[in-house]
Amino acid sequence: MNQPSPCHTKIEINEVAPRDGLQIEARFVPTEDKVRWIDALSTTGLRRIEATSFTSPKAIPNLRDAAEVVTGIQRREGVDITVLVPNVIGTERALACQVDEINLVMSASNSHGLANLRMTPAQSLEQFAAILDVTQGSGVFINASLSTAFGCPFEGEVPEARVLELVEQLISLGIQGITLCDTTGMANPAQVKRLCEAVLGRWPETPFTLHFHNTRGMGLANALAAWQAGITRFDASLGGLGGCPFAPGASGNVCTEDLVHMFEAMGVDTGVDLDALLEVAATLPDLIGHDVPGQVVKAGKSTRRYAMPGR
Ligand code: MG
Repeated sequence: MNQPSPCHTKIEINEVAPRDGLQIEARFVPTEDKVRWIDALSTTGLRRIEATSFTSPKAIPNLRDAAEVVTGIQRREGVDITVLVPNVIGTERALACQVDEINLVMSASNSHGLANLRMTPAQSLEQFAAILDVTQGSGVFINASLSTAFGCPFEGEVPEARVLELVEQLISLGIQGITLCDTTGMANPAQVKRLCEAVLGRWPETPFTLHFHNTRGMGLANALAAWQAGITRFDASLGGLGGCPFAPGASGNVCTEDLVHMFEAMGVDTGVDLDALLEVAATLPDLIGHDVPGQVVKAGKSTRRYAMPGR
């Protein structure tokens, strides 16, 4: 007998461009432009927006206006505002701005953790425990993003058993949601299917989000494989903004409007008004000063029709 399909007819998108995209841009986007942009995004049906990062302004100067952005944007029913925080101080700043969700980040591999966060995974877990002490009773949802869950640019393979062990530790610590990140675009669809089936089978109650990069052109294929395994939550970045600091010139996060276009074309409800999202995506080159990798904004939707030539 056939197994029932784990595919869901509804998914939700977490827009990460305001944080993951802007953090590595060459120029600072003025605060009022960020606020206007996030306000436009929050009318398109996105379920969640990662608005900024409460990091040291020295570490990420582009996001030095975190508090002004979060307190400046319009808060809309049904759109959760999440922010990345690296430590207890950032957590306190984020809580003071009434965020809905806090996203913590750690690496699954030692070398990437040390290179990117100056912390081993064990040190990150200790830090998370201190952060959870501070957030207790706040009602704020605590998510953790696990970088290099599908491979490390320094160490290569990150064994699935290693990832499962870290997920187990995060859940027992009290982390409520987990994002599995293909930080440098090393994942392939077969591997994604295996890991997604493993985590969903073991922790069916935990909300898992998948964060893919299109570094090697496999972003949408990986998202499809995750969805086929039963995943319903995806990170994505408008225009495909963002990138990988270890692969200069490589394309970045999986593009939100391309991801929405794919799922909607398949009859999967993303909750997003694609036309409205494409309108916001079309403003990106002006906002950041350069072209972006997104495809559908250039080609139009697959329903677009052309006049036949020579008639
Ligand atoms: Mg990313």
